[in-house]
Amino acid sequence: MTISSQQSLDSVPARLPTPITVAFGDGIGPSLMSATLRVLDAAGAALAPEVVTLGESVYQQGITSGIERASWDSLRRTGVLLKAPITTPQGGGYKSLNVTLRKTLGLYANVRPCRAYAPYVPTLHPALDLVIIRENEEDLYAGIEHRQTREVVQCLKLITREGCERIVRYAFEYARQHGRRKVTALSKDNIMKMTDGLFHRVFDEIGAEYPDLEREHQIIDIGTARVAVHPEYYDVIVTLNLYGDILSDVAAEVAGSVGLAGSANVGEQVAMFEAIHGSAPDLAGQDVANPSGLLQAAVLMLYHIGQGEVAARVQNAWLRTLEDGVHTADIAGPQTRTRVGTQAFATAVIKRLGQTPQALPAARNRAPQPTWVAPPAAPSAPILKQLVGTDVFFEWSEGERDPQVLAAALQQVEQPDLTLRMITNRGVVVWPDGFPETRRADHWRCRFLGAGPVEHLQVIELLRRINLTGLDFIKTEHLYTFDGVPGYSLGQGQ
Ligand code: NAD
Repeated sequence: MTISSQQSLDSVPARLPTPITVAFGDGIGPSLMSATLRVLDAAGAALAPEVVTLGESVYQQGITSGIERASWDSLRRTGVLLKAPITTPQGGGYKSLNVTLRKTLGLYANVRPCRAYAPYVPTLHPALDLVIIRENEEDLYAGIEHRQTREVVQCLKLITREGCERIVRYAFEYARQHGRRKVTALSKDNIMKMTDGLFHRVFDEIGAEYPDLEREHQIIDIGTARVAVHPEYYDVIVTLNLYGDILSDVAAEVAGSVGLAGSANVGEQVAMFEAIHGSAPDLAGQDVANPSGLLQAAVLMLYHIGQGEVAARVQNAWLRTLEDGVHTADIAGPQTRTRVGTQAFATAVIKRLGQTPQALPAARNRAPQPTWVAPPAAPSAPILKQLVGTDVFFEWSEGERDPQVLAAALQQVEQPDLTLRMITNRGVVVWPDGFPETRRADHWRCRFLGAGPVEHLQVIELLRRINLTGLDFIKTEHLYTFDGVPGYSLGQGQ
């Protein structure tokens, strides 16, 4: 490793250094990274870092992704990124670098271990010790949004079976490898029966292959409430992207401080390790921020690259530092004996390398979790997909927004083999039945169904006829059955 200015030649390890890509980030990032690299170096990590610049200064060059071509090349060469937090400029069409990295590199699993370090770090939940495994690539983070009418905007939630299978299997493998006993899936499948329902079904299917592990599913809202109040109930949690994003911050806060937790973003070829917090511009340049989150990320990285022995040495020295009451300001409490800044904290960890914690459970060397590579899709029985109708969406504000008026206009142009069956407004059925109390936006879904399978040409003909009425159709969503099972949600009350 050649990056730390304070490197000692004694610590040059015998094994071949593992190339990694390192980004020093923005705000408190550079200070946290130099503290972390000093510890890794002193612990004998065999690393060959390639430094890249990501974030603010790249955005300022007009590169809206926040990452240059050469950095991509380094990442793809090393397959490992240790990244300090970066600042995302507000507005101006800048993209979130984190979302770009995760999606471009296929980093499908976001792993966030959260635990309490009581009594050394003040917390209301001393028994908290859970891991959140969040799906990282799909869900509402596809970023496909549209303004459809004057009143209504839309964001598409995309979930794939393969995405669910990968994250669920990763969670069960993780639990097994880390000696955990239970995996809890959190979703909202009572409302989103197709998207979250698929995730829940896959969880049950794959979970059945792990009879040695307990498994359960909970609805995300009550699950989140319980994580906040009884986090000790949970062991490994697996959930979809947005839920995991929110839940992991809840868990980190409940554990004691956002400054304490690291995370791994794992894909088949590349993995990225970072603290869970941001660049904290309010603390930049003051040498007060806690480097523990990035150090924890580095420990996860060391396990990942097969340097588990060094990982355990760093982790044990860090735990011992906490036990000895050497604390940064964010975790200071009754057990604090020496309040230190960023660099002094790193020095305190370095002094304790080779020691183990006296009360907190010590870390052990272990093999890296094998990256689960999705097997090539097994040839499955062909699925019969049949077009049976179409939902036509309209912007419409005429006739005092009375759905009877809209239905009457559409019935003028419906065809005998493709008839109007239902109108909903924001998902609520307003025709043929409905209540006057239902608030009606300018966004209407009108469902046309055939008596059996229909042809695309019939849909085109329907749209041609609708066009003659002057009604503003804003999109269509075709309705298919898959082996006879409707691949679309039914209206409320159907
Ligand atoms: P933040 O996490 O930077 O800060 C939130 C609060 O936590 C602040 O009060 C801060 O002082 C404190 N804090 C954070 N890290 C700490 C540490 N190591 N030690 C002690 N206290 C710490 O969140 P924010 O203020 O919402 O975001 C600041 C910037 O960071 C934004 O530009 C945001 O886009 C970016 N961000 C980056 C990442 C990342 O790179 N992974 C993640 C989140 C936010």
